[in-house]
Amino acid sequence: MKNENLVGGLGKKEFIEQVVANNPRADTALIGRAYDFAMAAHAGQKRMSGDEYFEHVLNVAYMLAGMHMDSETIAAALLHDVIEDTKTTKERLKREFGSAVASIVEGVTKKIALKTTREDRAENIRKVLLATIKDIRVILVKLADRLHNMRTLKYLPQEQQREIAKETLEIYVPVAYKLGMYRVKSELEDLCLRFLEPGIYQELKTRIAKKKEEREKEVKRVVASVKRLLDENSIPAAVLGRAKNFYGIYKKMLAKKIPFEEVRDLSAIRVITTSTENCYRALNAIHSKWTPILNRFDDYIANPKPNMYQSLHTEVLFEGKPVEVQIRTLEMHHMAEEGIAAHWRYKKTEKDRQFDRKIAWLKQVLEWRSSESAKDFVESLKVDMFKDEIYVLTPKGDPVHLPEKATPIDFGYAVHTEIGNHCKAAKVNGSIVPLDYELNPGDVVEIITSKDAKPSRQWLKFVKTNFAREKIRRALGISGEELGKKEWEILTPAEVIEKLDTKGTKPSLLQMPKCCYLKYGEPVWGYKSKDGHLIVHHNICENLKTLPQHRLMKLGWKEEKKERTSLMIELTDRVGILADLLNRLTAEMVNVESVNTKTAGNRLYVNFEVTGISDTDELVKKLKAIRNVVGVKVA
Ligand code: MN
Repeated sequence: MKNENLVGGLGKKEFIEQVVANNPRADTALIGRAYDFAMAAHAGQKRMSGDEYFEHVLNVAYMLAGMHMDSETIAAALLHDVIEDTKTTKERLKREFGSAVASIVEGVTKKIALKTTREDRAENIRKVLLATIKDIRVILVKLADRLHNMRTLKYLPQEQQREIAKETLEIYVPVAYKLGMYRVKSELEDLCLRFLEPGIYQELKTRIAKKKEEREKEVKRVVASVKRLLDENSIPAAVLGRAKNFYGIYKKMLAKKIPFEEVRDLSAIRVITTSTENCYRALNAIHSKWTPILNRFDDYIANPKPNMYQSLHTEVLFEGKPVEVQIRTLEMHHMAEEGIAAHWRYKKTEKDRQFDRKIAWLKQVLEWRSSESAKDFVESLKVDMFKDEIYVLTPKGDPVHLPEKATPIDFGYAVHTEIGNHCKAAKVNGSIVPLDYELNPGDVVEIITSKDAKPSRQWLKFVKTNFAREKIRRALGISGEELGKKEWEILTPAEVIEKLDTKGTKPSLLQMPKCCYLKYGEPVWGYKSKDGHLIVHHNICENLKTLPQHRLMKLGWKEEKKERTSLMIELTDRVGILADLLNRLTAEMVNVESVNTKTAGNRLYVNFEVTGISDTDELVKKLKAIRNVVGVKVA
């Protein structure tokens, strides 16, 4: 954990020297004036820590200087609290520092209330995000501000600590992630964990410290071996050990439901090389020396994440232990650490279009919601931000962001309201598909429109995006409230359980969020979202605590025969087959208790011990349909 104050009592001269070290062309006159102005305006004000208030704004500005941000951003960071906390007006800032600086400060200024209500908080978040659409630098200042406030959170009363940490985890962490700012995101996450789950945080801290020496030795050995291998292959690269953040380890424990001791891949390394070609060469060298672990390879260079993150990820067995490896170029590394801030720097270059695309999601989310009440706005924002995204393509090759399992209707509305409203049929990769077809990453989607085509009520049952749902409702002339209620009332808890338990497809009203791993028999809660979805969370999911109580319901599971069955599957090996088998079993709601594999000749035998099979013949048929499966035996 970093010091809460990066800079303490840094004088004007030293501060400006630091700024210039990061950006030789900085407007030192502007920054100097902002420094003096802020210092005078906050004179006499103290923070809860006892520090001068000015220390806070100085730290925020210093962080942004470290991200190589431009002079207006740094000036705005120094001035970011003067409208809110001093008698300074926006007009005055505009006169003295120009309209860009004044707008950024205005954007991060909260509505002042004697006692902040939930509604006020929501309104403030909306205000910052709306200002961000006009100038992305608003959110950069806001994130730096929040990061420093989180670093100094221990000085606030406990109740406030929790509230601020909760808001940070729900809103600012996903925003930082969506903007690709991994460094800010992971520090915020660790700080949130520290204040929301102090017990777990301290335990992790102690345990990690205990194993530190052992792990560092291990990582050193891996780093040296990889470095030697790359040298032998004449691949220029820096090889570094990488510490995983606490929150990441905590999430892994939650997701896999394992104790700390069983989190095996604490060791992680990073290879930073000179070109994309060398990334793949390094990967090849590593894969030919150490056995890669099945299904743990991801090529985010060819398929960047929607937040534009690029790297190769793999996991290999090093002396019998899994080690995570990330491979990237130096430029990818900067983009990954600083995200949108780095993109902003490269603006005016060929990255321009990428940059615009990157904030497109924010525009989309905000545009159609501007009419909602602030509280609803924040509620649905949370839901949208936790969804995973895919890229699909228009026939011209332009990428469109959509949540996983989005349909052609979602695509139509994402491209243009009129295309959604007049959608008649859809083609994916050249073939006609049903309108509720679930799109896959990279699909080329074409919507066939007709003047007479109209949205149908049916569509509401399968669209995945809130913006499509909202537009359809509008076209049909129904309000969200009315519809939400109606859809909800048809599902009683008993029916929900029934559906949770049925094999095959899940009804579209049920959603399994990314944060939880649900297993039969374990306690679960349902959260009724405004749009009528029932989002099922595990009893121990921390997101649960952040959701309004009155919309939560305890769910149960239908009784099930706990009969154990042994499935022996004979197959010819291919990459990804084990994952395919497991995915099929999960989709059939079969619980895997244990897996064993053995090879004989060119055959692989996988033995699953399972419970919860409802139709054996049907299951065998489905397993046999998987490519490379030769035979299935049930015992
Ligand atoms: Mn502040």
